[in-house]
Amino acid sequence: MGPHPATWMRSLPQGLFCEPGGFFIDPLRAVDRAVITHAHSDHARPGHRHVLATRETLALMRARMGAERAGEAQQALGWGEVLGINGVEVRLLPAGHVLGSAQVAMTYRGSRAVVSGDYKRQADPTCRGFEPAPCDVFVTEATFALPVFRHPPAGQEIARLLASVALFPERTHVVGCYALGKCQRLIALLREAGWDRPIYLHGALAAMCEVYSALGQRLGELPAATVAAKGALVGAIVLAPPGAVADRWARRLADPVVAMASGWMRVRQRAKSRGVELPLVISDHADWDELNATIDEVGAPEVWVTHGQEDALIHAVAARGIKGRALRLVGYGEEDEAGA
Ligand SMILES: [Zn+2]
Ligand SMILES: [Zn+2]
Repeated sequence: MGPHPATWMRSLPQGLFCEPGGFFIDPLRAVDRAVITHAHSDHARPGHRHVLATRETLALMRARMGAERAGEAQQALGWGEVLGINGVEVRLLPAGHVLGSAQVAMTYRGSRAVVSGDYKRQADPTCRGFEPAPCDVFVTEATFALPVFRHPPAGQEIARLLASVALFPERTHVVGCYALGKCQRLIALLREAGWDRPIYLHGALAAMCEVYSALGQRLGELPAATVAAKGALVGAIVLAPPGAVADRWARRLADPVVAMASGWMRVRQRAKSRGVELPLVISDHADWDELNATIDEVGAPEVWVTHGQEDALIHAVAARGIKGRALRLVGYGEEDEAGA
C-alpha cells in the first residue's frame, strides 16, 4: 500500500481536498476545481471555476442554478471512466442516492480513498444502484446513523399510501417530498405499483421532473395541481414540497390527507409536529443497517464520517476493529430535513 490517504486527503474549511489532484469534493464554498457527487444543494454549490461530475449531475445543476453558476468549465465523466489528475486516478461510481449521484474513488500511488457523498442500498428505479469499491479509507455520510433508523422496503410504504387512497376515495392525498430525487422516485414507485392515473404536481416540483424526463426517465402524466379543476383532485395523489403540504396551498384540495415521504418519518413526534397524518418512511439515505453493511463490504480499515450522527457509527465500527474519524464538516445536511 502507498501513502496513507490521510497524507493526501485533507479536511479544510472549504471541504475535503485531494492535495496532489488539487481539487475539492463537494466544497462548501466556491473553489477553483470541484468534483461534485450529486446535485443536492448542500453538495453542489454555485460558482466553482471547474466542475467535474456525471452528465446527469451537471444537467441537474444547470437546471437548479443556471448554466453559468453551475460552473465556468463543466466536465462530464462517464461511469467507471478513469481520469488522471496530476497522478491521481479519479473514477465515479454509482451511489444509488438520486439520478447521477456518484461516489468519488481516488487512487494515488497505490492507496485508495472513496468518498460516498450521500448513498442508499435500497433499489431505486430512478438511479443506478450503489457499487461497493474496496478502499483504504471510506468516507461515509451518517444522516441516519442510529440503530432506531431502519427503513422498510419503499414498496411497502407505497402500498400503505395506495391503501389509504382506496380507503378515502373522496379525499385528496397530498404527499410532501423533496424536489430532487424523492419526488421522481415516488412517481416511479407509484407507476411500478400500477398507479397509471395522472399524478398532480405542485409547481415547485416540475422543473426537476422535466430534467429526469429529458434524461430518459418515464414518469407518465404529471399535470400541474394549481390549475387543475377542483373536482379532478378528488381521489387524486398530489406531490408537493414538504413546506407546502400543511399550509394554505394544500387547503384548497378536497379534504386533504397529509402524507410525507422521509426517513425522518420514523420519528413519530416529527410527523406529528408537522401535521402529517400519513407518515411514509421512504428515504434516499442509507439506514443504520445499510451503513454498517456497506462499511463492512468495502473493507476499509478506516472510515471518515460526515454530516449526521457521527459518534454512534464510529463507536459501532470500532467494535469491529475499524478506525473511525468524524470529519465535522459544517454545511452538509442543510437541505430541508424532509429531503432525507
Ligand atoms: Zn443528497
Ligand atoms: Zn447530503
